[in-house]
Amino acid sequence: MPEEKAGSQKRRTKKNKATAKTSPTKAGRVGTEKSPSVKAAATAYTIKPIERAVLDSLTPLPVLDLRASLLKWYSRCGRTLPWRNHPDPYAIWISEIMLQQTQVKTVLPYFQRWMEHFPTVESLAMADQTAVLKQWEGLGYYARARNLHRTAQIIAEEYGGQFPRSFDEVLALPGIGRTTAGGILSSAFNQSTAIVDGNVKRVLARLTALDRPPAKAMDRLWEISEAVLDPDNPRDFNQALMDLGATLCTAKNPACLICPWRSHCAAYNLGTQLELPMREAKAPLPHKIIGVAVIWNDQGKILIDRRPQKGLLGGLWEFPGGKLEEGETLEDCVAREVQEELAIEIEVGEKIMTLDHAYTHFKVTLNVFRCKHLTGEPQTIECDEVRWVELNELDQFPFPKANGQIIDALKAEAAAK
Ligand code: SF4
Repeated sequence: MPEEKAGSQKRRTKKNKATAKTSPTKAGRVGTEKSPSVKAAATAYTIKPIERAVLDSLTPLPVLDLRASLLKWYSRCGRTLPWRNHPDPYAIWISEIMLQQTQVKTVLPYFQRWMEHFPTVESLAMADQTAVLKQWEGLGYYARARNLHRTAQIIAEEYGGQFPRSFDEVLALPGIGRTTAGGILSSAFNQSTAIVDGNVKRVLARLTALDRPPAKAMDRLWEISEAVLDPDNPRDFNQALMDLGATLCTAKNPACLICPWRSHCAAYNLGTQLELPMREAKAPLPHKIIGVAVIWNDQGKILIDRRPQKGLLGGLWEFPGGKLEEGETLEDCVAREVQEELAIEIEVGEKIMTLDHAYTHFKVTLNVFRCKHLTGEPQTIECDEVRWVELNELDQFPFPKANGQIIDALKAEAAAK
């Protein structure tokens, strides 16, 4: 699940952008029939003689066979997707960004709605950021939406509304790393640019029985992806490779018996497909306890604030609150956070609900309290904007997912009265 899949009440987490910024080698340059990948992988395993024989028989990578068999399978079994073979690079770019860390079935309704609201790059460039984030609400990784908005403005202003075709220009756009650039250029313009997304990592790690976790072998995975990429049909080849990972070479239950690469797959021939790709040991996620304030004023309005642009969930609206400190009660935490963030005094009342959420790097438990505004005009000390709104106006603002659950509970409570 994406790191921003759930709401948070704190903006102290920094997100590091990790995108490769090196130019890719053209497909086929490394892609000869003499690729040493399987042999290289074999040397680091403790391999029985019979397994060694199997691996040796698979060296080198038979790229021509791999291309032909994958494309043949794709022509029969490839998925029909709304952005596939789309004539507009804008639609392809939107889909590639939405598909980062996100499954196709989740993306489909968002893509449809997005294209209705922002059908062109110009319409996106001119939109208000709140409207952009509202269309992204619930999809997670909100930096993607902010970057789409910024990139649309760059394309409108600097490229006359035309999506650039040069790899380096595309890679320089906000929110676009090497694999996204490769995916857009191959899909939109049939350029020979490789991809290494999550599905592709898994497929290539199994194909070559990669002897390290993918994160520790990215250069090797790029070499393999460039090697197998069909320079005569990069668009279909990359789409086919993604479909293979999404539909047959799945994480838990790969359908090897009907896989077009079965005869060449080192993991299948070794019987190690369920053990690959190798995984890195993960430390347990830190757990943060958060106090959240739903603050009403005398007019029956609720206080919300907009998170700063930079950082987790930047630009989204939320109910104020923050992290519990050692020795503090939850009620004291809520009052302190509201005072620090907004410089107002509140009365903290009963707890409304408790919510658990998991991010990529930590988990949170949100303790939500009903609060009453006492004194002070809310200040934007740790946020970009504050507003008093009616309960029925909350739907107009983009909120993190957990805050959406709070809103649902407030509406249900109001309806029951
Ligand atoms: S044979 Fe199995 S493990 Fe190998 S690529 Fe195909 S589905 Fe994946």
